[in-house]
Amino acid sequence: MDLQTIFLDLKPLEAIADHVSYRHALKDCTTFQLGGACPALITCASANTLTKSIQFLAKKNIPFLLIGGGSNLVISDTGLNQCVIRYVSEKPDIRFHEDQVWVTGATSLDTLAKTCAEQGFVGLNMTTGIPGTVGGAIVGNAGAFGKQAGDVLLRLELIDLSGTCSSCPATDWVFSYRHSSLKESGQYVVSASFQLTKGNSEKLLKEREEILDVRRNKHPDLLKEPCAGSIFRNIEPTSSAKRRQASGWFLEQAGAKGMHIGGAYVYEKHANIIVKGPDCTSQDVNELACRMSQSVKEKFGINLIREVKFLGKFN
Ligand SMILES: Cc1cc2nc3c(=O)[nH]c(=O)nc-3n(C[C@H](O)[C@H](O)[C@H](O)COP(=O)(O)OP(=O)(O)OC[C@H]3O[C@@H](n4cnc5c(N)ncnc54)[C@H](O)[C@@H]3O)c2cc1C
Repeated sequence: MDLQTIFLDLKPLEAIADHVSYRHALKDCTTFQLGGACPALITCASANTLTKSIQFLAKKNIPFLLIGGGSNLVISDTGLNQCVIRYVSEKPDIRFHEDQVWVTGATSLDTLAKTCAEQGFVGLNMTTGIPGTVGGAIVGNAGAFGKQAGDVLLRLELIDLSGTCSSCPATDWVFSYRHSSLKESGQYVVSASFQLTKGNSEKLLKEREEILDVRRNKHPDLLKEPCAGSIFRNIEPTSSAKRRQASGWFLEQAGAKGMHIGGAYVYEKHANIIVKGPDCTSQDVNELACRMSQSVKEKFGINLIREVKFLGKFN
C-alpha cells in the first residue's frame, strides 16, 4: 500500500477515530511484542468511534483487519500490508442491569471479570487473568477450568465489513472449544451482554485471588517473558466418553522443553508456550512452533493445531 495515498485517504479519519498513526510497528500491539509495521494503525476505544471508523473505511473501500489486545497473535516481521483497527480501551465501559451486564468489546476481559466479582455476580470469574479484550474473548470463546465466555453470553451488537450494524441473540452463533462461528463471519463484536447470577462478592474475590495465583505459577510474566499463551489447541477426544487432552503433555513427552530457535524458547514451566528471548523474531517463533508440532507428530502421530493466529508472511 502506498503510504502517501493511505495518508491522504485516511486524513479525515483522524477526526473520527481515537488515534491514527502511520507506518506503525505492530510489536507495540501484541503481548509477544513482535511484528513489523502496518500502513496505518487506527485506534478505537468506544463503540461509537469503532462504528464510524469502519463505516468510513467501508465507504472508501479500504481493506482492514481488526485486533483487540493482541494476546493471541504472532504478526510477521515484515508486518501487514493492510490497515489495522485496534479496538481497545483503558477505560472500561461496563453497565449492569439487574442480573445482566453490558460491556463494549474494547473493554479488558480481566477488568470485566474483576468488576463482576466486586459487584457479587457469578458467571465470568473463570476468565480472571486472561489477557485481551471482551471482543477477542467472545470470538475465540476464551476460557479456563472447563468454562468459556460463550457459556454465559446473552446478546451481541455486531458490525460487518460493509459497516452495517446488527443486534442478535448469542444463540444465533455456534460456540465450541476456543472457537465461535463469528470467526469466519466477517462480523466484529462492538458490544455484548452476559447473563449472570447473584452471588457473594467476598467469595468471588477470594476465588479470583486463587485463580490469579494458579495463573502466576503456570504462565510467564508478560513483562519479563512476552508470549501469546498456548501455541496449540488441546487435542480433541477420539470418542464422546473421553476428555480433551493437554497438548502441553504430548509436547513435554516429545522433548519440547529445552527447544529453542534463534531468540524463541519453549517456556520452562509449560511446553505449550513459546516465550520471547533476546533478538527473537516472529520467524523464530514460527520455526519453533513447526519443530514442536513435528516432534509430537513423530512420537505420537498426532497433528497439533495452532491456537495462536499467525498473520502476515512467514518463510
Ligand atoms: C499469558 C497468556 C495467557 C493466556 N491464557 C488464556 C486462557 O487461559 N484461556 C484462553 O482462552 N486464552 C488465553 N490466552 C489467549 C488470549 O488471551 C485469548 O485468546 C484472548 O481472548 C484474545 O483476545 P485479544 O483481545 O487479545 O484478541 P487478539 O489477539 O487481538 O485477536 C485474536 C483474534 O480475535 C479477533 N478479534 C479481536 N477483537 C475482536 C472483536 N472485537 N470482534 C471480532 N473479532 C475480534 C482478531 O481479529 C483475531 O483474529 C492467553 C494469552 C496469554 C498471553
